[in-house]
Amino acid sequence: MKRIIVIGGGASGIVAAIRAKNNDNEVIVLERNSKCCKKLLITGNGRCNYYNDDQDLRHYHSNREDLIKCIINEDNLNRLKDFYKSIGIIPFIKDGYYYPYSNQAISIENSLLLTAKEKGVKIITDCLVEDIFKRGDKFQLKTNKDIYEANKVIISVGGCSAPKTGSDGNFYHIIEKFNHTIIKPLPSLVQLNTSGNFLNNWSGIRVNANIKLYENDKYIKEENGEILLTNYGLSGICVMQLSGIVSRGLYMNRKEEVVINFLKGFVRTRDDFIEFMDNRHLLLPNRNITELLDTLLNYKLINVLVKQASISNTKRWNQLNSKEKNILAKMFVEFRVNVISTNSFERAQTTTGGVSLTEIDLNTMESLIVKNLYFTGEIIDIDGDCGGYNLTLSFISGILAGDDV
Ligand SMILES: Cc1cc2nc3c(=O)[nH]c(=O)nc-3n(C[C@H](O)[C@H](O)[C@H](O)COP(=O)(O)OP(=O)(O)OC[C@H]3O[C@@H](n4cnc5c(N)ncnc54)[C@H](O)[C@@H]3O)c2cc1C
Repeated sequence: MKRIIVIGGGASGIVAAIRAKNNDNEVIVLERNSKCCKKLLITGNGRCNYYNDDQDLRHYHSNREDLIKCIINEDNLNRLKDFYKSIGIIPFIKDGYYYPYSNQAISIENSLLLTAKEKGVKIITDCLVEDIFKRGDKFQLKTNKDIYEANKVIISVGGCSAPKTGSDGNFYHIIEKFNHTIIKPLPSLVQLNTSGNFLNNWSGIRVNANIKLYENDKYIKEENGEILLTNYGLSGICVMQLSGIVSRGLYMNRKEEVVINFLKGFVRTRDDFIEFMDNRHLLLPNRNITELLDTLLNYKLINVLVKQASISNTKRWNQLNSKEKNILAKMFVEFRVNVISTNSFERAQTTTGGVSLTEIDLNTMESLIVKNLYFTGEIIDIDGDCGGYNLTLSFISGILAGDDV
């Protein structure tokens, strides 16, 4: 009887173990925490957004984006949907985003762990795998408890995000020992730290805006949605969606800037803003600039932006010269902020980078360098957007590895 060991009892590891277990093998999960799936419980604000109907490949990122389709494709997505059904998950679907019907992440955890138990997967907790050695055809796993032998090993230890949940990047050096290339792991789906002497003044404001990312002055990507302005910079889902690119760019010493249109619902360009203000002044000629802009944005934000334009907020629109009007327009529709860094892995939802896709058979997740060694989940060099994409990737890679071993 062959023995398969899964290192890490997180989302992808438990799925891999469930799929691997059959009558002819023994499947053991070694988990360092006192319980499995710690991270799963905090996903989607405790609701676990585990899937999305929109599976366009632009929601996934890698150093080798051309290879993502080998994992995220129609066949594998269908296998995943069948798997969800088979373990008893009933979805609540909102705008294509899938949550468990109970609205509780624990339902996904329970479905996974119950299935693992029903199948006869053995889970050993409080077991930190410290090293792996290849001894002939077999692997020897040194842990804080015992030494375990296995015919096949699935590495499902996660990346570095939310390290308190157990995935703290402890395994990259062990994987490198097996001659695998690790694309530098960096925080993704994380807040951005920016420069600016105004941060304390805008802290706490939420605004519906458009945000564009520029690298070395070149336009890269934009997002729309709610931005949370903070005393360190910027937060909110649309900001976090840009953060993986920013992480990589800063690591490569690129200049990273974001340009925000705070009035995206009303105006797109500086000229639009000037026309809008001309009309508003005609309608309300006695109001000063701040009063004219009132009702459009949080008054604290209006004050920050007018101050940044170095214009007295007691002035009326018709008292500004065209240069001043243009500067004010720039502040409201093209507010440029320098990104200094991202927040750390402690606050990141995922890791960009990891085991290079070029060294993995992406049909099976088996290493192309070491036979019978597999990788699943966040440890590999694919990261997804917010919206269920990271769990989709974790689960599919778990299915592929588990089905192959
Ligand atoms: C706050 C937050 C919210 C999120 N929300 C969502 C969401 O709504 N939708 C979504 O798709 N994704 C979400 N994610 C991302 C998602 O949780 C991860 O992509 C996914 O959990 C990764 O699965 P994994 O199996 O690769 O790693 P993990 O789930 O991190 O599991 C790895 C496991 O390996 C164990 N381990 C590590 N090293 C060792 C070792 N040496 N020995 C033994 N065990 C070890 C760890 O303790 C851990 O249990 C969120 C992440 C965070 C932090």
